[in-house]
Parts: sequence; C-alpha cells; structure tokens
Amino acid sequence: TDDRSADLTELAKRRGFFLQSAGAYGGVSGFYTFGPNGAGLKDNIEDSWRDRFTVREGNVEIDAPTIMPEPVFEASGHLDGFDDMLVECPSCGESHRADHVVEDNTDYEEAEGLGPDRVGEIIEEYELVCPTCGTGLAGQAIEDFNLMFETNIGPGSSSPGYLRPETAQGIFVEFPQLKEYARNQLPFGVTQIGRAYRNEISPRKSLLRVREFTQAELELFVDPEDGEGPDLDSVVDVVAPFYGVDQQAADDGDPLDITVGEAHERGLVADPWIAYYLGVAAEWYDSIGVDMDRFRFRQHQSGERAHYAADCWDAEAEVDGDWIELAGFAYRSDYDLSKHDEYSDEDFTVFRQYDEPITTERPTVDPDMSSLGPAFGGAAGDIADALADLAEEAPDAFRDAESDTDGEGTVTVEVDGDAYDVPVGQTGFSVEEVTESGEHFLPHVVEPSLGIDRALYTVLDHCYREDEVDGEERTFLELPASVAPTTVGVFPLMDRDGLGEEAREVAADLRERGLSVAYDDSGAIGRRYRRQDEVGTPFCVTVDYATVGEARDDDEGEPGTVTVRERDTTAQKRIAVEDLAETLDALREG
Ligand code: ATP
Repeated sequence: TDDRSADLTELAKRRGFFLQSAGAYGGVSGFYTFGPNGAGLKDNIEDSWRDRFTVREGNVEIDAPTIMPEPVFEASGHLDGFDDMLVECPSCGESHRADHVVEDNTDYEEAEGLGPDRVGEIIEEYELVCPTCGTGLAGQAIEDFNLMFETNIGPGSSSPGYLRPETAQGIFVEFPQLKEYARNQLPFGVTQIGRAYRNEISPRKSLLRVREFTQAELELFVDPEDGEGPDLDSVVDVVAPFYGVDQQAADDGDPLDITVGEAHERGLVADPWIAYYLGVAAEWYDSIGVDMDRFRFRQHQSGERAHYAADCWDAEAEVDGDWIELAGFAYRSDYDLSKHDEYSDEDFTVFRQYDEPITTERPTVDPDMSSLGPAFGGAAGDIADALADLAEEAPDAFRDAESDTDGEGTVTVEVDGDAYDVPVGQTGFSVEEVTESGEHFLPHVVEPSLGIDRALYTVLDHCYREDEVDGEERTFLELPASVAPTTVGVFPLMDRDGLGEEAREVAADLRERGLSVAYDDSGAIGRRYRRQDEVGTPFCVTVDYATVGEARDDDEGEPGTVTVRERDTTAQKRIAVEDLAETLDALREG
C-alpha cells in the first residue's frame, strides 16, 4: 500500500492534481497547492456537495471570514479546549501527537479519547518510541497543544484574532440575524464551504492531515421539542455499514450492513436528523466515486467526542490500509448557541408560538420593600433581591407562608451565608396573571461536517486503476463523469488536411455548451488517450477523415461523424458531430 500511495502522489504531482506548496523554497509540511486538475476536481466535488446539501435540501449558504476575534473562540470553547496531545522526543526534538504514537504502535485503534495520563502510561507500558529517530518516549511529558493559528488584528497586539479551526463558528455567531432571515421558523439549515486552519502537530499522509483545508459544513437548527423530524422516506433504503459503540466493544466488531431506516429503528442512530444526513452523505460519497465497500459509519465512544457533542458518528473510508475520518455528524445540542448567548450581548433564542395562548400565575414581590428597612438594617437591599429571586424560583414558599396557621408567616432567605426570616406581610408578595403567546428557547444543532480534501484524496485513491490495453499497461482514474476535472478530450487524428481546424471547432462548440474540454493534437493518438485516462477524463472525441467527408471507404465511418471513446471500457462508437454535445451531456449526467 505504500507503493500505491507513492504512485498516487507521483501521479498527483505529475498530472497537476496537487503538490506540496512553495517547493521552490523547500516547502512546508501541511500545505498543498491544487494544480489545474486538482482544482477542477475540487470545484466539482464542492459544487456537487452544494447541490446535494444546500440546494436540494432547501438550506441556505453563507460565506463568513476566516479570521475571527478572540471572544468568539473564548465563547466557543476552542481557546481553552481545542488541543491535541503533544509529546516531544528527548533526543531529536521532533514533536509528535501522543495519541498517534499510541495508535501507530499497538492494538489501540483509537487513542483520541484517552486523556494525557493514560496515553503516557501506554507509551511507558509498550515502550513506544519516537517515529522519527526511534528513541524511547517513556517518561516524556504529554502536553496540551492548542491547534489554532493566532494572529493580530490591526497593528499592535491588543486585538488578537484566530484563523478559524472550523467553519461552523462563522455560522453560529451570526445566528441572531440568521434567525430573523428564517423568520424564527425551524428547522433551518445554514451551510458554508470554506477554508479552516489547524496547526497540526504532525501533518501526514498527504492531503489527509494538513494545516489548511476546506470544510463543507451544514448547521441545521432544530426545535428539540418538535416531534416531527425529517421525512426519512428518501433515505430509509440506503444501505451502509454501521459500526456502533456496542459492536466496537464486541469481540468480532464487525459493522452491520443495514439500511438507514433499520439503523434508526434499532436505536443505533437515535436522532432522526443524524440518521437522515448519514443517508444523504452515503449516497453523496457514492456519487462522487468513493468505493462503498471501503466505507463505513462509526459511532464515537464517549471519551472521543468533541467538547460540544452529545452523539457523534463519523463517516470513514479505508485508504492505504487505514480507516480515515471523512466527516463527522454531531448532535451539538444547544451548546454553541447557549455559549454565544451567554458571552455576547445578542439574543440567540428563537420564539416558539404556543398552539393556544397560555395563562400562568406569576408571583412578584414589591421591588421597593422599604418596609424591610427598619427591621433588617443595612442588609435590607440584599434581602429584597434575594426575595425577588425566591419569588421567581419558589413562589410556593410565599403562598405557604401566607396561609401559615401558626401565625409565624415568614419566608427564609439566605444572604451571604446568613439566613433571614422575613414576615411575608412585609414583602409585598402578590400573584399576577399573565397570558403568553409563546416562549423563547435555544435551538439545537445537528451538524454534518465534511472535509473536502479528504474526500478528494479518497476519491483519487478509490478510483485509481491499473489494467492492460493492447498489451500495454495503463493507469486510469475511474472518476464519475460528474466530478472529473475534464469531461472530454478532443483530438484531431492528425493536425493536417483540415482535421486540426475541424477539431478545434468541435472543442470550441463543446466549451460553448458548458463542457470542460481538453484539446490535444500532439503525439500518437494512443498516447493522447492515455494522458486523458490518467486524469480521469471519461470521454475522448477524435476527429478523422470521415468527419470532414474524406474517408477512403465507408468502413472508416459515415461523413460528418466522430468517434467517441469511453474511458473505462475503451470502447468506441461513431456519433454525428451535430449530436455530440447532447450525447456527451447525457452521458455526463449518467
Ligand atoms: P481528526 O480526528 O482526524 O483530527 P477531527 O475529528 O478533529 O479530525 P472534525 O473537527 O470533526 O475533525 O472536522 C470535520 C472534518 O474536517 C473531518 O472529518 C475532516 O474531513 C476534516 N479535517 C479535520 N482536520 C483536518 C486536517 N488536519 N486535514 C484535512 N482535513 C481535516
């Protein structure tokens, strides 16, 4: 598998998919530049995600800045808790992720949730060594390393900012405006596709762990008391391997190949919205070229969940013999909105209208309570506040005191550890009737969070093929036509006798129709086919003598036709030039 990933990386660089950036200056790990084919593939994957998760779901997309001020990340918990475990080699000084050292060397498949003490113990127990130089790491301190890139906003250092480690916060902080846009109607889904930045301790495995990457996230705001949920009909039949905490604990640990409907019914995926989007995602990954035999959903163990997540599933793919996380599906509850509601001056709640207005009794105490003055001296003001709180929280204390037959009639409040008995008559207690048409509450959030770079790399890996054509080895990418960077290669059989002009015209015409075209007239035709095969171009059109009406005999084709060659089978057929665009469009749509 090392060979395979080396082949893929070599192909990626040679054919303009991606390469480590700034190589002229030695490069720096964790940053990649997408070349012409990579950028095309990435755009197509993003467009297809947008179409599936935004447009077809009736969600809306926003575009927030990548740098945000410190208070945002104070509230979100990232400043305090967005850490990875770092262990430094005492000999070569290289830093490593301590949980990765554990995962790479023993039978611990997942060490993320274990905590620094336990990870330190395991390193000691198994005598684990530095992946770079082989020195033993036992006894080295395991430190928390915050993954956010810090910067200064404006001159000086008085206004720290951070490059966003996830796109999600850019959606949450704007919720007070977004809820107005949605006119307080839930469910309401907001998506964003954009760069996120994490100062990974040790970037590795090519695009799979980088320091700047693209996320495609959906934050779906739901009313937790809305019993209706999504219409699961469209996804119930989607089959995927579901790998719950129970199966992970079991000895065989095999995922269950079941439908989304079953996974939900069995309570394996409890939340209906999570179930719904697992189904949507499985179909989407399949559509962009992920091999469903090397794909699974895995539920997080409790220790592994992020600081905000109540339940979490990952979509995982097998790449180079490892299972890697493609996406996380988290039930974030009201964690984020409650934090921003608390830390900012804005109101993050949504108004829920009752079916019928509800009339309730609201107890009040006289806010002034000047009568308390003489009886309690300087403490009177504090006691008044404590009484007002008590009236809200435990109104029965007043009612009970009012009807107290012993004649005591006092309520007890505590101020700074001292208890005071206040005669209820002096509190000005009364009960008011109020009618309310609804209430304010914080929506809960369901979040499918997908990484585009990992999806792209997985698609390349899963679509990579080697076979033999005419006794020659060939490499090709079996990319779905909908994501292939180039849809069609157009070649003149040779660039003479007007074939070149005709082919250039065909190419221009197809471009006009919105198809992505590669024109190529250099080298043997077989070589040109191979070049397109290698970058996953699904169709090649060849203009020959028949096209220009100069075939020597009919076997060479009807006048006005071209050959269309299909990448995977290499089969060719003839099509009239005037039908070409329509035929290719139909083939592309599948
Ligand atoms: P990991 O455990 O692999 O570090 P994570 O659980 O921290 O990932 P999330 O915070 O759930 O990842 O981020 C959502 C998605 O963003 C991931 O599923 C992944 O596709 C992508 N992602 C996260 N970190 C990286 C990275 N360093 N490089 C590339 N993609 C990433």
